[in-house]
Amino acid sequence: MTALIDLLRSRLTTLLPSELKSSELRHLLTPVGHPMLLCQRRAMMIVDRVRLFAFLFAVLTPLWSIIDLLVFDTPLWARLAGFRLLACLAFTWLLLFYRPSGNLFDAYRAIAILFAIPTVFYIASHTLLGSYQLAQFSAVVGAGYAFLPFVLMAGLTIFPLTLVESLVLGMLLLMAQALAGYLSWATLNWPSFAGAFWLLILIAGVASLAGMSQLAFMIALVRQAIRDPLTGIFSRGSGEEILRLQWDSAQRTGSPLALAFIDLDHFKAINDNYGHEAGDAVLRDAARSLVATLRGSDSLVRWGGEEFLLIMPDTDLQQAHRALARLAGNGLGVRPDGQPLTASIGLSERLADVAEDYRQLLEIADQRMYQAKSGGRNRLHGHAEYTMGQPVAAVLEG
Ligand code: GH3
Ligand code: MG
Ligand code: MG
Repeated sequence: MTALIDLLRSRLTTLLPSELKSSELRHLLTPVGHPMLLCQRRAMMIVDRVRLFAFLFAVLTPLWSIIDLLVFDTPLWARLAGFRLLACLAFTWLLLFYRPSGNLFDAYRAIAILFAIPTVFYIASHTLLGSYQLAQFSAVVGAGYAFLPFVLMAGLTIFPLTLVESLVLGMLLLMAQALAGYLSWATLNWPSFAGAFWLLILIAGVASLAGMSQLAFMIALVRQAIRDPLTGIFSRGSGEEILRLQWDSAQRTGSPLALAFIDLDHFKAINDNYGHEAGDAVLRDAARSLVATLRGSDSLVRWGGEEFLLIMPDTDLQQAHRALARLAGNGLGVRPDGQPLTASIGLSERLADVAEDYRQLLEIADQRMYQAKSGGRNRLHGHAEYTMGQPVAAVLEG
C-alpha cells in the first residue's frame, strides 16, 4: 500500500514543471515574494504583450466595420461604427502612451485597460444588437459579437501570470459577461447563455494553466540569466540592475542602503598551490557561507573573480556592521590548508556617506575595501564614525 502511494507521489511530482526548483513552485501561485528581477522582467513582458494586443485590436476593430456595413442597415451600422471608432482610439492611446516601466502595478493597469476596452465595447454592442430583430446574414454576424468574451478569455493565455492573477482577471471577465446578460435580460436566450457561461469558465481554467506554464518557463530563464553558474548567486550584470533598483527605491522613500565590498584575502595562492578546482570549491563555499547569514531582502552579487558585493536595503551603518560581524563570526569557510578563509571588507551607506548616486556609493565601498587590504587584510573598513579599519573580530566583540 505505502509502495503504491510512494509510486503515485513520485509519478505525480514529475508532473510539476521540471524546469523549476521546488522552492520556486510557490511563485506560480501568487506574485507575493517574487524576486525583484523576476518582477521587473515580468512587468516588462506583460506590457510588451499588452501593446502587441492593443496594436492588433486597434487595426482589426475598425476594419470589421466593412463587414458590418455589408449586413446591417445603415443606422445600426453607424452606431456600431461609432463604438468601433471609440475602441480604436482607446487602443491607440494604450499603444502610444504606455511604456514598459518594469513596475508590476503599471503592468496590472495595462492589462486592466486592455481588457476593459473590448469589454465595454462588448457590453455596449451586445445590448444594442439585442434590441434589433436580425435575420439571415445579419443574424450570423450579430451572433459573432457574442464571441468577444471568448477571445478575451483566450487572450489571457499570452501573459505569464500566477494562478491568483489569472483567477482575478478571469473572474472580472465572467462578471462582465454576467452584466451583459443582465442588461439584455428581456431577450436573453437562457440555455445558450448558460452554456456559453460554462464554456467561458472552462476556458478560464485552461488560460490559468497556460499562464502558469509560461510563468514557469520565464522563472527558469530569468534565474539562468541572472545567476552566476559557479556560485549560484547574482552575476555582475543583474547585481548592477538590483543595485540601481534598490537605489531608486531607497531614494524615493528616503531610507538607508548599505553596500559591502568583500574581497577574499590571498586567494590567488589557493589557485597557485592547490589548483583552480580547489579555488572554485573555496569560492562556492564562501558564497554559501555568505548567503547563509543574509536577510531575505539582502542580495549577494559575484562582482568579480573573488570579489562579492552585498546589497543591504533598509540597513543603516550600525545594522550593516552588525550583519557583517555576524558574517565574520560564522566565517567564510576554510582554505585547503585548513587555515580560515578571510576577507577584506569595505562598507558604505547612502545616507551616512551622503552619496549622490549608486556609482559613488560603490566607489566608496571599493576604496574602503582597498584600505582594509592595505591595513593588513581580514578587516572591515566602514564609515569613520564607526570604525577605522578594525579587525573583523573586534567589531564582533564591540
Ligand atoms: P588579495 O588579498 O590582495 O585580494 O590577493 P588575491 O590573491 O586574493 O587577489 P588577486 O586579485 O591578486 O587574485 C585574485 C585571483 O582570483 C586571481 C584569479 O586567478 C582568481 N580567480 C578569479 N576568478 C576565479 C574563479 O572563478 N575560479 C578560481 N579558481 N579562481 C579565480
Ligand atoms: Mg582577493
Ligand atoms: Mg580581487
